[in-house]
Order: sequence, then C-alpha cells, then structure tokens
Amino acid sequence: MFDHVLDDAQKRFRDEIRDYVKTVPRQLILDMDADRVDFPREFLREAGRRNLLGCRYSKRWGGRELDWVSSAMAMEEIGVLGYMFACVFGVGAELVCDAIVRHGNDEQRDKYVKPLVRGELFAAECLTEPRGGSDFFGTSTVAEDRGDHFVINGQKRFIVGGTAADYFLVYARTDPNAEPHKGISCFIVDRAEGVETKYLYGLMGCRGGGASRVVFRDVKVPKANLLGRLHGGYDVFNTMMIPERLGTAAMTIGAARPALEIATQYTTKRKAFGQTIKSYQGVSFPIAESAMLLDASRAMVHATALAVDRKVAQNRVRRLVSETKKFVTESCQKVVDHSMQVMGGIGYTNVFPIERIHRDLRLASIWTGTSEVMSVITASEWYRESKEARAANLTRDMELDAAEAGAVEEKVYE
Ligand SMILES: Cc1cc2nc3c(=O)[nH]c(=O)nc-3n(C[C@H](O)[C@H](O)[C@H](O)COP(=O)(O)OP(=O)(O)OC[C@H]3O[C@@H](n4cnc5c(N)ncnc54)[C@H](O)[C@@H]3O)c2cc1C
Repeated sequence: MFDHVLDDAQKRFRDEIRDYVKTVPRQLILDMDADRVDFPREFLREAGRRNLLGCRYSKRWGGRELDWVSSAMAMEEIGVLGYMFACVFGVGAELVCDAIVRHGNDEQRDKYVKPLVRGELFAAECLTEPRGGSDFFGTSTVAEDRGDHFVINGQKRFIVGGTAADYFLVYARTDPNAEPHKGISCFIVDRAEGVETKYLYGLMGCRGGGASRVVFRDVKVPKANLLGRLHGGYDVFNTMMIPERLGTAAMTIGAARPALEIATQYTTKRKAFGQTIKSYQGVSFPIAESAMLLDASRAMVHATALAVDRKVAQNRVRRLVSETKKFVTESCQKVVDHSMQVMGGIGYTNVFPIERIHRDLRLASIWTGTSEVMSVITASEWYRESKEARAANLTRDMELDAAEAGAVEEKVYE
C-alpha cells in the first residue's frame, strides 16, 4: 500500500508485519515449494502470537479494530513471502473468521474466531466441488435436517488447508426444491468422524498449503454450527467474496513486487553490448510499465478497500471488487512476465525466485473466482447501474451532443 494513504497506526502495523516477514526462514519457503511441507503451521502460530491475524475485528475477538485498508496492506506485505503464505494467512483469519464475525453468534465467535486469531486453530473454506467452482449455486453437497443436528454428505475440491484445518466452512444444499440461491446454507464443520482429506494435488505453484479434496460422509453437525440463517448461505457467500477477492488482489501485488525489485537490480548491473541493459528502452520500458501496473493495482485495491470501509452499496462493491480482482491479478502476472523477460535466460532458472513467482501467480486469475467470472459480475452490475443512473437522470445526456443527434431514423437497434 502507498505510504501516503496510511495513518500512523496503519504504518506501525505494516512495520510489524514487515519485521515478521523478515524472520520467516528461507528454508520454509523452499520446503513449501518443494512440497516437503503440507501446511505452514508454525508460520500461522507465530503470526497469531504476534497478533497479526484478523486485524479488522474487534479486540473482543482478538483483532485490532483496524479497517479494510489495513487488511489489504497486511495481505500485500505477507504476499512478499510467497503466494501460499498469503493464502493461508488469509483463508482462516480473513475469510472464514470474517464470515463468522459477520454472520455468526457470540458462542461461535468465542469458539472459532478467537483461537484462530491467536494462531491456535486452523480453518479452511469449502466452496469448490469436483463438479465446478464457478457455479456456486450448483452445489451438490447436501445437509439433511435430522431434528437436533444436520448430516452432511458431499465433497469439496482444491481446499487450501484441507490437510491441517481444525474446522471447515462448508456450503451445502438444505432445500433441494428451492431456487438455488434460496436453498443453500453455510456450516462450521469440525474435523470429526466422516471428514476425510482425500488427495493432495500436485500443483504448478502455490505449494505447501495442503490443497486437497475433502470428503464429508455422514458428518453429524450440531444445529449450533449453522452459520447465519437456515438457507441463508448466499448471504454469507456474498460478504465472503469481499475478503476473498480483495485479499487475493492485495496479496498478488505483494507477491509480484519482489520480481520487479529483483529485475530492477539485475538490469542495473547486467551489461550487454558494452552498456548496462537498463540503458536500452527495450529493457527499461517494461520495467516502467511494471511499476505503473503495480501502482495502478495498489490504487485500485485502496479505492475498493475504502469503498468497503465506507459501506458503499453492496452491488457497487461487488462490481468494484470483481474489477479489482481481475485487473490486479492480470496486471501482476504481466509484471512478473516482464521481470522474467528482461533478465534473459537466468530469469528462467531457480538461481532467482522469479520462476517460482511466475508459477505461483498463474493461479491468481483462476482461484477465488476466475477472470471470466469477474467479467460476468462486472458486466451485469455495470448494466444495472447504468440503467438506474439513466432512470434517475443524474447526469447530462451526452448522446444529444452530436451534430446529428436528432437523426432518429439512423439509430437502428433491431
Ligand atoms: C491451488 C488452488 C487452491 C484453491 N483453494 C480453494 C479453497 O481453499 N477453497 C475453495 O472452495 N476453492 C478453492 N479453489 C478453487 C478455485 O476457486 C476454482 O478452481 C475456481 O473458482 C474455478 O472453478 P473450477 O476449477 O471448478 O473451474 P470451472 O468452474 O469448471 O470453470 C472452467 C472454465 O470455465 C469458465 N467459466 C465458468 N463459468 C463461466 C461463465 N458463466 N462465463 C464465462 N466463463 C465461465 C471459467 O472461467 C474457467 O475458465 C482453489 C483452486 C486451486 C487451483
């Protein structure tokens, strides 16, 4: 995040995170990338001990009562360590706990949020199913009401933290006959009998987070673990998309930043044809474009975080978050690609970490909602807003400012 948008409390928090980032052992980064670690438990425990998790929440639930701008800043700084570090930092504290803080009751917050923010429990978010992730409403996991408890059957795929989570936030169908967005509920499911972690995927990048398939077979879930109202899963999903997608955007900036920093250093030192290569515009212009893209990404994340902090209408926030997720993730992928290109062959080797960052960040435009899904949301919200603005007659009708604006016979639409 830009220094000039942060106040003193936010800067102090940022510096605490930077201090922590400096202490994380290099070997852990290498071991995660080599799939020698299935989840960085100690990394999260220490983050909890330092009170870095869940900074937005009230002190009662272990937070610092900071805002979304601070959360975005934290995600960017943790992202510097690598994409999976930011992901596990975010999934439990920023997503799952956000859902419980907003939609849960005090018993649930006491039992699940406080220990997670202290770094003592881990959680995973279970939305995607083998049959599809983009189509949330098509969920085929089912929760049957059995009087004093529910029984959940189904499976979820690509679940980060599937190997380590003590509890899971699970969306399941509770009314098979209702319209899709009225028949899904959200549950907090403890790791207990019937919960099985089935398969650890061989990933291109973003390794070490335990992404797995989680199977729920006749899992008994007490009524007290329904999150929000019965059939109210869509409400939870709607608000969770904010930390999920805004957090992804912010952490992607942090993950791309080291690539640009390394490429900047390298092109300052490396010589070709008797000159340092930064003196060639073929090299310095992609660096300049990358700096511009990172700054534009930061500006967008900041503006969207402010919109959430200032409680802008939900539909508008949906559009801003979706645009931000798509723009920032795709821009940062370009930044990493430029950084690799200006380093020539050595950028493609593991002598520098850019190849790992490249592998990690390919995921950015796929998970937490693909770029295509972001465009679907942006398009539908944009058309809706445009129609509403036109109906409210809020702005000048520019269509009339053409010389031949009155030529209605030329304005053919069908
Ligand atoms: C490493 C990793 C970690 C993940 N972690 C988690 C996690 O912790 N929890 C979790 O729940 N999920 C997680 N996911 C799942 C991720 O969010 C989904 O993979 C993603 O949302 C896409 O869903 P899908 O893979 O089923 O693709 P599909 O939904 O099958 O989509 C396939 C293609 O079709 C396109 N498409 C689909 N619908 C439309 C449409 N309406 N218009 C245009 N194009 C469309 C998509 O954009 C995509 O290109 C993770 C995934 C990975 C790879």
